[in-house]
Amino acid sequence: MSRRLRVRQAQTVLPFGVGAVFDIQGESFVATGIGDWPRRRQEVESPRLASRLGVSAFYAAPPAADDRFDRPDAAGAPYIRFPSWLFCGACRRMIRWRIADEKAGVPPRCPGCSPVRRLAPMRFVQICAGGHLGDVDWWFWAHSRLDPAARQSCDTRDRLRFNVSERATGLEALSVLCTAKGCGAGRDLLDVLGTHGMRCSGRNPWQRRGEAADCTKPVQVVQRTAGNLYYPVVSSALDIPESDAPAALTDEALAERVRSSDMWVPLCRAHGGPAEDAFRGLLKDETGADDALLDALLAEETGSAPPPPARADGASDEPASPDLSREEWAAFMSPAPPATRDFAVRESELGLGQEDAEPWVSLRERFGRVVLADRLREVRALQGFRRVSPTSAFVPADTARRLRWLPAVEVFGEGLFLTLDKDELTKWEDDDRVRRRVAGLRTDLGRSFQQDRLGTVTGAELSPRFVLLHTLGHLLIRQLSFESGYSTASLRERVYARPEHDQYGVLVYTAAGDAEGTLGGLVQQGEPPRLAETLLRMAEAAAWCSADPLCAEHSGQGFDNLNRAACHACALLPETSCETGNTLLDRALVVGGDQVPGYFEPVVAQARSAAAAAVERRPR
Ligand SMILES: [Zn+2]
Ligand SMILES: [Zn+2]
Ligand SMILES: [Zn+2]
Ligand SMILES: [Zn+2]
Ligand SMILES: [Zn+2]
Repeated sequence: MSRRLRVRQAQTVLPFGVGAVFDIQGESFVATGIGDWPRRRQEVESPRLASRLGVSAFYAAPPAADDRFDRPDAAGAPYIRFPSWLFCGACRRMIRWRIADEKAGVPPRCPGCSPVRRLAPMRFVQICAGGHLGDVDWWFWAHSRLDPAARQSCDTRDRLRFNVSERATGLEALSVLCTAKGCGAGRDLLDVLGTHGMRCSGRNPWQRRGEAADCTKPVQVVQRTAGNLYYPVVSSALDIPESDAPAALTDEALAERVRSSDMWVPLCRAHGGPAEDAFRGLLKDETGADDALLDALLAEETGSAPPPPARADGASDEPASPDLSREEWAAFMSPAPPATRDFAVRESELGLGQEDAEPWVSLRERFGRVVLADRLREVRALQGFRRVSPTSAFVPADTARRLRWLPAVEVFGEGLFLTLDKDELTKWEDDDRVRRRVAGLRTDLGRSFQQDRLGTVTGAELSPRFVLLHTLGHLLIRQLSFESGYSTASLRERVYARPEHDQYGVLVYTAAGDAEGTLGGLVQQGEPPRLAETLLRMAEAAAWCSADPLCAEHSGQGFDNLNRAACHACALLPETSCETGNTLLDRALVVGGDQVPGYFEPVVAQARSAAAAAVERRPR
């Protein structure tokens, strides 16, 4: 019954990054903090992102045949079994599995059943808004209907059964029973979901007891697959030519020189010993680094840096959310951007220069630049995560708060960058009806507790162009997926629509591949005349949603009412494709709606009359 479990390297940031709980072949695990990562890890370079996030470097766990699910010596990212409460589907016995019980390559088995039965993880876990995660106290649950005195009379903690009754359905059919002699307490799971006054452990499963915070936040019992168990905080940057790279790079370059020196590992080993000074001297001569830098790098490498004072509730300060759009926008808009290994773009066009017929003329008038990216590299770094809600306390990827690096992965892909025509856009944005419609959305955004987070994407103030370009990005991804067989999840958007930086474009890109296998073909879809045809069909399709008229007339749907005419049937994308969690979308701004002109409305109208005219001309 041996088995191999594997998480691909690209998945170690999303979706299986630090703090995430996931099922694999019927077993359930949690990704541990980066303090447990193997020392042999691969550096992922992104100086621009590193300097903006204020970290020294990024690392990926080396790809490995087995991840560290149950093998302390494997090379990949570390995961530990969670929840640790398991049960046997045959004899219904519940077992609290310990790390010492793990046998490499073998799933947990019931010690009582013959023939051998595998144990299954309990479906419920507990979380709190402080970012903590733990097993449900099933003993407490089984005895929770007793008064405290009666509860204390049972001192056997490990005789629990997870019963299932055929007389009931749903959670009511499940119960946890104590089979200790003379006890027999039990309770069904009908109302297990929610808050029950249980205490939070103040930590995550991989943290030692000494690392626990004194947490007073109410504990919530949820399914371990619940959406609110894990909200990763990820920042990403495209590699762009280093024309005006920030000055902070030099420090990092020096650090890199130190780490790649032959003297570095000997120095780490000698750290704190009599030979340290000699290695230090050699390293300083060789690299030009000073003691302060060596101290910082040593502290980081050996984990001996003093932890900064933790707040009583265990929450740390908010993560950095830098605006990386400016340089990327400039790189896409530069007339002849120098190609690098990881950023190769060329200017293209819709190919409608000679067209004098509608709807092509209207379409051409509304677009500006078309840039095809034959090669893009994106670095995605996991800063940390939250639980319970996307605005709960932030937990950094290094839960011990000692390391200055972050886990990251690099992905390669192709892209399609489009801008709108600036004059047409300004004209449309000046229309009162457009402004009024977006002002309403801005009010809803102001009320949303997501305001700060979304503000890092939209810019200082939500603008009509942001909602327009964002919705355009979604519609284009959906159309491309419909026409070319991409899954929508393999395409992503980056919206460049900050009026304060004079931006008015959107990038749609594939970034699923590693260095060898990129998902090709997107650039071909962007070549003339295909792109123009795709855009036209996209605009025509966007004028209709199967949920209309309900969808078209909505005054606020989706998360915090932050969408207008946009729903799953017409505009939404998988979470990982979208920068805003599928909010701030409105088809009406694209194709027009009741009382608001759409930027592409004339294109749709022209396409319809051209089609009607073609039908009339057809000989009968
Ligand atoms: Zn059993
Ligand atoms: Zn009992
Ligand atoms: Zn807590
Ligand atoms: Zn819809
Ligand atoms: Zn989006």
